[in-house]
Amino acid sequence: MPVLRGLRVEVPEIRVEREARLPAAETALIIVDMQNDFVKKGGRLRVPTAEATVEPIRRLVERARRHAVLTIYTQDTHYQRDPEFEIWGVHAVKGTWGWEIIDELKPVEGEIVVEKPRYDGFYGTPIDDILRTNGIRHVIVVGTVANICVLHTASSAALRWYHVVVPMDGISALNDFDYYLTLRQVAFLYKGTVVEKADNIVFEGRGVWERGRKQPTGQEA
Ligand code: ZN
Repeated sequence: MPVLRGLRVEVPEIRVEREARLPAAETALIIVDMQNDFVKKGGRLRVPTAEATVEPIRRLVERARRHAVLTIYTQDTHYQRDPEFEIWGVHAVKGTWGWEIIDELKPVEGEIVVEKPRYDGFYGTPIDDILRTNGIRHVIVVGTVANICVLHTASSAALRWYHVVVPMDGISALNDFDYYLTLRQVAFLYKGTVVEKADNIVFEGRGVWERGRKQPTGQEA
């Protein structure tokens, strides 16, 4: 079978914004698949550059918490005999260490974790329903792998007319082509916003998503 190898292509123009200002009440942060298998040494599908995104993402999550911004973590979740294993090998098997979200980005009480069966975070999950019922219009997507689960999730959001925002230091890929392809698709095809740094995403005002003890438990008198 013929294979194309070593092909060199030029990356078309990608519009990059220095800053993005978003209304906290209409913005959601989606953290895609920051699980041990993809990020940590010993992970089954490790992306070497993912480690460098942990700190920028962590700071963004901290600010999302301070502004009560709705935050959703996707968790790639497979069971035995998953057809995806034929492409990628066995990974993110429910209940294993590799499946767990990395310690640095552990969700706190009141944040949402969505187990997803496929690249697209909207497929087979309640994400769209959660965003819609909370009046969300802007979706920040960070995590890994850029051209796989990040891009499919960003695409799915954009096709539903959410405004997609992706910070350059919040995503990671296995090679430069995959990385820039992701940014190009977001900026050009989906008319989203590519921001230079996660630190330059500014939440304006206050959202509605309370964490921890302020969250209604249904058990209080
Ligand atoms: Zn998977």
